[in-house]
Amino acid sequence: MCGIVGYVGKQQAVPIILEGLKRLEYRGYDSAGVCVQNGRKLKVEKKAGRVDNLAKKIARHHLTGTTGIGHTRWATHGGVTDANAHPHLSSDGKFALVHNGVIENFAQIKAFLARKGYTFRSETDTEVLCNLIAYHFAKEPAVKGQSRFLESVRKTLRHVEGTYGIAALCVDFPEEIVAARKASPLILGVGDNEYIIASDASALVSHTQNVVYLKDGELVHLTPSAFTLSTLDQADVSPVVDTITWSVTDADKGKYPHFMLKEIFEQPAALENAMRGRFAADGSTANFGGLNITPAEFATMERFMFCACGTAWHACLVTEHLIERFARIPVEVDYASEFRYRNSPLDPRTLFFVISQSGETIDTLAALREAKRKGHRVMAINNVVGSSIAREADGGIYQHVGPEIGVASTKAFTSQLLIGAMVALYVARMRDMSFSDGVQYVNALKSAPDLVRQALKLAPRIKAIAKRYAKFHDMLFLGRLSLFPIALEGALKLKEISYLHAEGYPAAEMKHGPIALISKKCPTVFFAPSGELFNKLVSSMQEIKALKGPIIAIVTAGAKLPKGLADEVITLPDCHEAVLPIIASIPVQLLSYYIAVERGCDVDKPRNLAKSVTVE
Ligand code: GLU
Repeated sequence: MCGIVGYVGKQQAVPIILEGLKRLEYRGYDSAGVCVQNGRKLKVEKKAGRVDNLAKKIARHHLTGTTGIGHTRWATHGGVTDANAHPHLSSDGKFALVHNGVIENFAQIKAFLARKGYTFRSETDTEVLCNLIAYHFAKEPAVKGQSRFLESVRKTLRHVEGTYGIAALCVDFPEEIVAARKASPLILGVGDNEYIIASDASALVSHTQNVVYLKDGELVHLTPSAFTLSTLDQADVSPVVDTITWSVTDADKGKYPHFMLKEIFEQPAALENAMRGRFAADGSTANFGGLNITPAEFATMERFMFCACGTAWHACLVTEHLIERFARIPVEVDYASEFRYRNSPLDPRTLFFVISQSGETIDTLAALREAKRKGHRVMAINNVVGSSIAREADGGIYQHVGPEIGVASTKAFTSQLLIGAMVALYVARMRDMSFSDGVQYVNALKSAPDLVRQALKLAPRIKAIAKRYAKFHDMLFLGRLSLFPIALEGALKLKEISYLHAEGYPAAEMKHGPIALISKKCPTVFFAPSGELFNKLVSSMQEIKALKGPIIAIVTAGAKLPKGLADEVITLPDCHEAVLPIIASIPVQLLSYYIAVERGCDVDKPRNLAKSVTVE
């Protein structure tokens, strides 16, 4: 995980690269660097810390040139130091390289190159890759009609194992960039006599909305006036130019202090976008354009398997609950990282789903490939258009919520819940859900944006609660049925952005262990919606109260808690079961956000985390 930006054109490269790196900083932020080419000179500036640190350093030096590459790093090989920051130069000074990913056979290559006299200034796998390009370049004969620069990168990549998105410069080829990808995203922005290569569209959308999504195993060769695409086997590829449908303002914070808060408040609109055009004309079921599976084929499936990582895995758990509850089909959920190595026996009539906001999560991509290898059809629920997962899946459903920049997922998560609820409806209506129940369900989903708007009005109250609870070190989150995954999600959010220790549990499991943690020092966030289990939830709360544990109760309007039972009560509107997990997510998102702010944490860039994990 990291961000790459490269520019060739007529403008000065550094400001464009720095602006791109700022927008990509959510992908990696332990160090940053740029390299510009000016004639036959490669000038590198790099620095541990944020892109702003780098920008300050660059301001003191004059870095001019119309071709350049930049990187914001999320270290995998070698500590966070200036020396390990990218770009890396080959030891003969001919090449500069930025890289996202991991070169798995770097140690063997490094030993080989060391014997050939190449030297290394960093501990990274990237510097090894850069020197291997230099090695092949030195050996590569000049062939008429071929770029020696491109061919040496191509040859190098045939020898490496692992994952990469790269962009390289070569002193002998001013005004050229060679970039390539395997399992790390790269997008080419096509401008007017200028090109930008970047890890994601937010880094280039202020310059152009015309893009080419590179595929795995493809290389692109850029000059200011043209680009060519080819494969590792030297076959030419005809480019497909797509248009990005969102603009740069979608990737700005606007009036909000953090992307996370902006994205929390964008949820009503995000949900509207995620469901737009996706209900059948008769108003009783969902309709998906991109599933590529006929309703008849869908109906023959006897089991569903959902795989994902992190927050998306919680969305899988909620979806499991809704599909089993309404469609009466067994659903299995697995961590993608476990599934890929588990070799689980799967019935052939199992339809496979993966969920990933970025569509680049490497474990989820590997799970998808494993499922396909076993002959299953795989559907993807994914936000980033043109992502690896979207391309490799047999069919899928885009979330359509625009860029999510905050590392802690919010609007992407609730839209995954919404789409999961729509999948449950779609299958339920193929089985035994009646027309009128379908209509009621659809109307409930349509009301979700308004219910979220109401829940967001609780922000000032939740902010006040957060102030009182920010000093604690441990917190429990308890919920049952479809709110158990939201308890997990609430605990994860708190861990991610405020660094508090938090655990989510099914409420009734409390007595099988977590109850030992309860004391004045360990508050519990307790979901207690109205419904048949309400009295049982109240009993569990009473146990917590008896042990002097502070309680923040999240209830729905119809749930009347005994007076004085909870220390804080957050009341959500009553709603349909399919919508409840979405609405219940709002207070825990706000609580974790305000606690993190109160504790002075860097909400949008929490320590050690990156937005999408593209390394294993
Ligand atoms: N493996 C490289 C490094 O540790 C690249 C990591 C990244 O994707 O940022 O420098």
